[in-house]
Amino acid sequence: MLPRMTRTFVTVEAAASVRPSRPARHFLSHRASALGATEPRPVERHQAIVVGAGSAGLAAAVELGGRGFETVVIEKEESVGASWRARYAELRLNSWRRMSKLQGAGMPPRYGRYPARDDVVAYLEGFARKHGIAVRCRTEVLEVLPDNGFWRLETSSGSMLCRYLVIATGWDAIPVMPSWPGAASFRKELVHSSEFATATAYRGRHVLVVGAGNSGFDIAGHLVRAGARVTMSMRTPPNITNRDILGLPGQPLLVYFADHVPEKLADALFRAAQRLAFGNLSRYGIPRAPTGAYASHRERGRNFAIDDGFVASLKSGVASIVRPVARFDRDEVVLIDGARLRPDSVLCATGYRRGLEALVGHLNVLGDDGVPIHHAGTPDHPRAPRLYFCGMAAPLSGPIRIGPIHARRIARAAAVDRRMRYRVFAGV
Ligand SMILES: Cc1cc2nc3c(=O)[nH]c(=O)nc-3n(C[C@H](O)[C@H](O)[C@H](O)COP(=O)(O)OP(=O)(O)OC[C@H]3O[C@@H](n4cnc5c(N)ncnc54)[C@H](O)[C@@H]3O)c2cc1C
Repeated sequence: MLPRMTRTFVTVEAAASVRPSRPARHFLSHRASALGATEPRPVERHQAIVVGAGSAGLAAAVELGGRGFETVVIEKEESVGASWRARYAELRLNSWRRMSKLQGAGMPPRYGRYPARDDVVAYLEGFARKHGIAVRCRTEVLEVLPDNGFWRLETSSGSMLCRYLVIATGWDAIPVMPSWPGAASFRKELVHSSEFATATAYRGRHVLVVGAGNSGFDIAGHLVRAGARVTMSMRTPPNITNRDILGLPGQPLLVYFADHVPEKLADALFRAAQRLAFGNLSRYGIPRAPTGAYASHRERGRNFAIDDGFVASLKSGVASIVRPVARFDRDEVVLIDGARLRPDSVLCATGYRRGLEALVGHLNVLGDDGVPIHHAGTPDHPRAPRLYFCGMAAPLSGPIRIGPIHARRIARAAAVDRRMRYRVFAGV
């Protein structure tokens, strides 16, 4: 098993030996000279910078490199694929292997239909190595500022300038943790699901999983298998499906419905399939979802819950569903119906947000929900030319798949922009 967040993949120095690229140019920092520093810090300059060495950032680097852009990827953690490395040991892709590929060859068939966390990390590492992507690790981009037709990045290790900037910092960047009255006085474990490392650590413990979404269902299933007593606190009943439908990967069918079947019909078919697969779940605490599966994804970006054994544990009475949490009272969790629980651990599978405000919020490129207004790769926002977002979406077909699609659009647009610049420069 891979250690969590500890391996360094390739620094820009190491990468230079893999792939010859134009040397970064250095300028004097405006900030340093403005401050009157005696030794102005040089500003490193690249033609293109990609922020984030996850699947989307790597895809963007390959596309830009393929079009001749000198590109460097900036990553705040120790290595590529840091998000996947940090996830729990039992995690497997919910998306089908064949629909979770970057450019070129996909993941090898030996990974199975739904590759494991460590396989995904190995795939991303291999992809970066194969394409000789220059990755600068342990460098966090703190703020992006316009600077005379360039983008200036203030990073944890100095300023950088680039003409083309791609932000690929992930859809699931910042864990969303609810704030309940009395939570500070709870002396047991109270953590977000992003901190959940492995189910085996919970054997024999009573775990309250808060949230009946995709992550909540998956984690609850693993906990039950590991021998934990699981209670799930549910606010909104989910739409539930299996990974496989009639023995085949369900994802292509579910995506086909999304793209080609009217929403109301698709929702009705999904509901019928759920009933066929799981029966009536009301008596186990999961009434019919208030919004159809596809409508709920369109309206709130909510994905289906994929069942990997949790429903069976509800039916057998090993696990149970309870009402939403209202507050904490010392070591007790009080639910909105007044019931009290004394779990050993509370795991909040309560989702993530993008966390782009500090980075680019001042550029007015984000909507009220914190999602970039122009989030599909292209076009770039008129207020922020040559600033692109890659992989900032959670489509039903899986975020991994969307990265290369955005990346191709971005590289094409950047190449057109570069061509126009040369024409203007040459007076053509
Ligand atoms: C539990 C879970 C299960 C999932 N399962 C699936 C699945 O089955 N299929 C699927 O397609 N997707 C799945 N996803 C979605 C998942 O987010 C994507 O698969 C994929 O990780 C997205 O790639 P990305 O490159 O957009 O973001 P990430 O992989 O998150 O990469 C972003 C990178 O940017 C870096 N970064 C962030 N901020 C900065 C900064 N300021 N400066 C420098 N670096 C920065 C981060 O360290 C990170 O390495 C799952 C997500 C979760 C949480």
